[in-house]
Amino acid sequence: MEKHHQIAIIGAGTAGITVAAQLLRKDKSLDVAIIDPAQKHYYQAAWTLVGAGAYKYKNTERDMGDLIPRGATWIQEAATKLDPENNTIHLESGDRLTYDYLVACPGIKYDYSLVEGLEETMGKNGVCSNYVDPDYTWEVLQEFKGGTAIFTQPSTPIKCGGAPQKIMYLADDYWRKSSVRDKSDVLFVTPGSVIFGVEPFKSTLMKVVDRKGLQLRFFHKLVKVDGPNKRVHFDIVKPYEKLSHLCYNFNEVGTDEVEGHVSMPFDMLHLAPPQTAPDFIRESSLAHQEGPSKGWIDVDINSLQHNTYKNVFALGDAAALPTAKTGAAIRKQAPVVTENLFHMIQQDSVLNKDYQGYSSCPLVTGYGKMVLAEFNYEGERDSDPLLSRFFNTAKELWPMWVLKKYGLPFMYWNLMLKGKA
Ligand SMILES: Cc1cc2nc3c(=O)[nH]c(=O)nc-3n(C[C@H](O)[C@H](O)[C@H](O)COP(=O)(O)OP(=O)(O)OC[C@H]3O[C@@H](n4cnc5c(N)ncnc54)[C@H](O)[C@@H]3O)c2cc1C
Repeated sequence: MEKHHQIAIIGAGTAGITVAAQLLRKDKSLDVAIIDPAQKHYYQAAWTLVGAGAYKYKNTERDMGDLIPRGATWIQEAATKLDPENNTIHLESGDRLTYDYLVACPGIKYDYSLVEGLEETMGKNGVCSNYVDPDYTWEVLQEFKGGTAIFTQPSTPIKCGGAPQKIMYLADDYWRKSSVRDKSDVLFVTPGSVIFGVEPFKSTLMKVVDRKGLQLRFFHKLVKVDGPNKRVHFDIVKPYEKLSHLCYNFNEVGTDEVEGHVSMPFDMLHLAPPQTAPDFIRESSLAHQEGPSKGWIDVDINSLQHNTYKNVFALGDAAALPTAKTGAAIRKQAPVVTENLFHMIQQDSVLNKDYQGYSSCPLVTGYGKMVLAEFNYEGERDSDPLLSRFFNTAKELWPMWVLKKYGLPFMYWNLMLKGKA
């Protein structure tokens, strides 16, 4: 069967619902279809708090049907193949959907196969991830009775780049309260060269690292997790003479080191799984075919219009945008897509080229403390002018924690997903 809609949106996540709601608020006569097989929609940003026992998982979940904006048609199945030359989306059922305009925002895929042993051991043997099951992270944190705790992330792009370290700060805080911290080594092991790329947030976080006595290991690419034997393996991605030269607050924890490959024992391991664009995107001509953005959707980074197919826009985690993949970024991307889509419909051109890569990362540094890192494509601080009038958001502040725990979820469900913010 073939159906046609004026605007097709693939993915009813943060980006898809926000754009659909904004479009229909502007003009309720638009014919908008949203394609997504999921029954549930999650406010993933609160999973960091869930992993630390400070938020209930069930409060991050809503029925998808309750969020699809009134006036939009929900096509509850997966897109399997794209044919942008013919404005056609192939669906799981074998049906096809044609469109005049497409907004592609199907988010990210977790690809366990990029780290040996990960699939078998995720959710077992003390190997946990807030990206996958934050309730299990909380279980592991409570069961940890001292030893080596390792927090790490893959070398692929990931959503919310700060999430792998935020949970470490909360875990440290929790273990101090439960008196196991002084029996523990807590390590952050990263393929990167710094803890955070943007000043002054980096300096604030290095002070947190010092205060908490955390150990940092840089240039370590995660390659294997051996759950049953509780060892994690890394390739070192920089030439070096002594391993300690690639570390900060180095402490020996039983590392085996052989020619640029190290393995370490762990009593608990938190990680972000390796991430890619969904297969049907990577296999389509919407994706970059080569280069560092290979597989992600090839859009103009300021207007979010596709670089080849002018009736296609993309935003959110699946788009090739050189900034952090967050819901906060989508809040600034969605109005640009909405405005440009309207202008395309009316005048066949785009008007708004204003997206400058804004993204933000609410870095919780303990229970009741948060640094709000906001930045742009240039890697410069880009703090909200209103918030900055009252707070220095580069400092660890209690009001920012309140914002994270109460303000942002309220804003997400009641304003952003309704197309009002
Ligand atoms: C642990 C964690 C902590 C985070 N913390 C923060 C934070 O503090 N602040 C912040 O701003 N952001 C945070 N994020 C990131 C934020 O949640 C994402 O960046 C955001 O949700 C991305 O929105 P999206 O619409 O691109 O994708 P998603 O919201 O993931 O939605 C994608 C949708 O596409 C659908 N889909 C997938 N494949 C198909 C298909 N083939 N056909 C049709 N539909 C499909 C999916 O079912 C899903 O509903 C965090 C994320 C995690 C996991």
